Amino acid sequence: MTGGALIVGASQAGVQLAVSLRQAGYRGPVTLVGAERHPPYQRPPLSKAFLTGKADAATLELRTTDFYRQHGIDLVTGERITGIELDEAGTGLARTAGGRTLPFDRLALTTGARTRRLEVPGAGLAGVLHLRELDEAERLRRRLTPGARVVVVGAGFIGLETAAAATALGAHACVVEAADRVMSRAVAPPISAFFQQAHLRRGVEVRLEAGVVELTGAHGRVTGVRLADGTVLPADTVVVGIGVVPRTALAEELGLACDGGVLVDACGRTSRPSVVAAGDCARAPHPTLPGQRVRLESVPSAIAQARAAGATLAGAPEANEEVPWFWSDQFDLKLQMAGLADGHDRYVLRGEPAAERFSVLYYREGALVAVHSVNAPADYLAGRAALARGASIPAELAADTGTSLKALVTPVAAVPAAQ
Ligand SMILES: Cc1cc2nc3c(=O)[nH]c(=O)nc-3n(C[C@H](O)[C@H](O)[C@H](O)COP(=O)(O)OP(=O)(O)OC[C@H]3O[C@@H](n4cnc5c(N)ncnc54)[C@H](O)[C@@H]3O)c2cc1C
Repeated sequence: MTGGALIVGASQAGVQLAVSLRQAGYRGPVTLVGAERHPPYQRPPLSKAFLTGKADAATLELRTTDFYRQHGIDLVTGERITGIELDEAGTGLARTAGGRTLPFDRLALTTGARTRRLEVPGAGLAGVLHLRELDEAERLRRRLTPGARVVVVGAGFIGLETAAAATALGAHACVVEAADRVMSRAVAPPISAFFQQAHLRRGVEVRLEAGVVELTGAHGRVTGVRLADGTVLPADTVVVGIGVVPRTALAEELGLACDGGVLVDACGRTSRPSVVAAGDCARAPHPTLPGQRVRLESVPSAIAQARAAGATLAGAPEANEEVPWFWSDQFDLKLQMAGLADGHDRYVLRGEPAAERFSVLYYREGALVAVHSVNAPADYLAGRAALARGASIPAELAADTGTSLKALVTPVAAVPAAQ
């Protein structure tokens, strides 16, 4: 069986993988299949500019129709791949829900992730929404009208961005979070405390250590959120933002090793090296975490992994060594992050949270591992550049705002050992 390269999942990683295949010199047919009816689009604005009406669907498209045509990429939208047969040589046949069969001799999985569902009574009521796809964002946008009562479950990036957008549109937003601080999985306590206060100052209600036990409703529509302490928060709309689950079903059916994501090496190869995977569905090694694999949910990471996987699928294996970076826009606050703070044993606060402009630098065994900046792009850029070069910024000097971070970048060997 032949048929060229088949890429399952047409979003950030899938599109980049198709482009990178071509850039690596692959000349065979490329078929990019996506289950959504829209041509591939950017998701980050769905909880930011698109929600507030500053961007429309057309501006979100990743590439034009002409681009796919010019690069010989056969884009198939609105078709879900439901089964894949793969032989020992790495060739096979995929079937879609619509009854199409697609032969291939190279296979890439970029199936991304789906939203985690809230498992409480009432979770299926009308007015309970998730935010992952354009159609969902369109439904939510229509409901964010002045005076609307919106409860957001989950104070992660998407939950807080949604609350900020709802408030900017005149709705009343209340964020409910089970943990004792916002964005607790990703940032240090000073950043959590700052964003909690910043949201309160801008009119968002934030309830921490609050477990949701039920969504109440009338006539099939949601009317409120009942918390474990018995409080019922009135709501016309509930947005569930409690994380995502990687889509690994096809990989598992193919017998590929999966553990919290499709396991891949730095070149994007799965446990069947002829098959590659990239993006939110994949768990990959990371240069700053020796011996560990991480699954990241970010556009830069999806692009970097897909570049490597595309080159690998074209026969020119390439390792992804990019330092992860990420951003979140909440009101007028831009949070920029570089590196991975996982396992840090020390952090240093630089600047004044009260001035809404500061950074946190994270260290592990004396070496810089991540930088998070709020409205401080120069700090972020210096930190990201240092991490990319394997350099550091001495923790003892990092808090001195009289010296630019860029001037403090030091080769790792010169960094004093952690106390
Ligand atoms: C609201 C929102 C805001 C975000 N904000 C940011 C941000 O500010 N910064 C940032 O870096 N990242 C952000 N992200 C995360 C970022 O969008 C994701 O990391 C990125 O989209 C991952 O790309 P992906 O291609 O791996 O997966 P996905 O974008 O999840 O795409 C996977 C695609 O595969 C399709 N698919 C799955 N299975 C099949 C199948 N069997 N057949 C056919 N198609 C299939 C799915 O329908 C989907 O379209 C945000 C995400 C959301 C939802």
